[in-house]
Amino acid sequence: MSKRPVDPRRLDVAAFADAAGEIAGEWPLSSMPRLTEVTPHGASETTQVRWTARGERHAASPGSVQVWLHLTARVALSLVCQRCLQPFEKQFDVSRRFGFVPGEAAAIELDAECEDDVLALTRALDLHELVEDELLLSLPLVPKHETCLLPGPAAEADPQAAAAHPFAELAALRGKGRLN
Ligand SMILES: [Zn+2]
Repeated sequence: MSKRPVDPRRLDVAAFADAAGEIAGEWPLSSMPRLTEVTPHGASETTQVRWTARGERHAASPGSVQVWLHLTARVALSLVCQRCLQPFEKQFDVSRRFGFVPGEAAAIELDAECEDDVLALTRALDLHELVEDELLLSLPLVPKHETCLLPGPAAEADPQAAAAHPFAELAALRGKGRLN
């Protein structure tokens, strides 16, 4: 029996799990339009999304989830800081586990009960789309530097900046009653 190579864009999830399959690869960020849209500074030709997938079948009691897919994805993105509007570079790592059961209805029912996402078993899972979905979900709603480099609210807290203020010393002397 010949074994066909695994196509990550049309993955037979059950067969992959039965074989305890493992695959990994890279896709260019530019191949993911929804992710590219939110990274105006980061969609360079060379940015790659690295991913791995691993299948697993658990011999469990009937009615529970037996087929599992472990997915990881990693990409360095340049978002826009919503405070200083400068580029905000960050590496995003996703590590997720998905259960698969036969039928949409069973998937919806188990998804509500289960901590992990439960999807309907398919013979043509698009990992490329799943990786893009999960990376989008991992993005912060409001990307912000912890400390912005440009002048802003953070600069006022800088003690050197306060000392450089020409009237600071005068004000201090006046406060002590040494000046009339
Ligand atoms: Zn900033």
